[in-house]
Amino acid sequence: MLGFDALSKRSGGARRLVLSAAAKINLVLEVLGKRADGYHEIATVIQAVDLSDRLVIEDAEVLELRATAPDVPTDGTNLVLRAARALCEASGVNRGARITLDKRVPVAAGLGGGSTDAAATLVGLTRLWGLRWPPARLAEVAVALGMDVPFFLRGGVAVGTGRGERLEPVVGTALALVLVNPGVGASTAAIYGGVTPAMYSDGGGVHRMVAALRSRRPARVAASLANALERVAAPQYRQVGQMEAALLAAGALGAAMSGSGLTVFGVARSFDHARQIRARVTRGSWRCWAVRTLSGPAIRVRA
Ligand code: ATP
Repeated sequence: MLGFDALSKRSGGARRLVLSAAAKINLVLEVLGKRADGYHEIATVIQAVDLSDRLVIEDAEVLELRATAPDVPTDGTNLVLRAARALCEASGVNRGARITLDKRVPVAAGLGGGSTDAAATLVGLTRLWGLRWPPARLAEVAVALGMDVPFFLRGGVAVGTGRGERLEPVVGTALALVLVNPGVGASTAAIYGGVTPAMYSDGGGVHRMVAALRSRRPARVAASLANALERVAAPQYRQVGQMEAALLAAGALGAAMSGSGLTVFGVARSFDHARQIRARVTRGSWRCWAVRTLSGPAIRVRA
């Protein structure tokens, strides 16, 4: 096993990295059934979008995390620290890092905020520590941290099966979207806990979305949006229906909830159209963003 000094010489001496970590939405999320291990089998189309957290990772003797958002834990439960510890263990590197997390992606919002931070930590630390790992090795560490983490190592758009971690890249199309978050979080486990067999489907929705993306027509993508978890979330949180109705009334071509919610998104005809919709929908405690889909990596090293 190489010591850190040998590894850092090889890495070219980078001591501080700035990374952006993009969020995701689920264009389709189907629940296919329940597995013997108690988790649900899903089929989903996951898409990276340009709403991003920012991480600064600096070389340090011990591992420490600072976060800008009060609703994010900075103890060992934060996915950034869990990712850093998992990488130390898997690589045998015994070093610290000072990580500053500037949260912009809303927390517990169905946008994969914690998972993208974990992926950015893995990308940043492998670079800082000069680990030249093949992508499959990093993906193994990623999946142990959360089912969405492997997606963020790739970005773009992909079909996810299993618990969402088995990924197949698909042809994407550039879309302009409006995200609306009610300012209230939902627990992923609680939402999945409300799924009943009546909500199961056969994966046909994912196939329809893949064909819609290939057509490159935003209206067809909008008509193919679907999320089984909305049937659990919407009766409990009336904001879900209200936000979708507001998006449609403001001109969105279609709207759906992302992941386990409660963020919803609308499809626009263009980015200008998305900005107009955003201006019309913004109200009260709702937070709104006009965003573009990302065809490339979700994690970008800025410096
Ligand atoms: P998922 O759908 O993957 O469960 P989500 O996108 O709905 O996640 P996250 O923003 O990842 O939600 O937050 C889920 C929980 O994870 C929160 O309750 C939060 O306390 C915890 N958490 C741990 N690390 C982070 C992080 N870096 N950013 C945000 N939340 C984090």
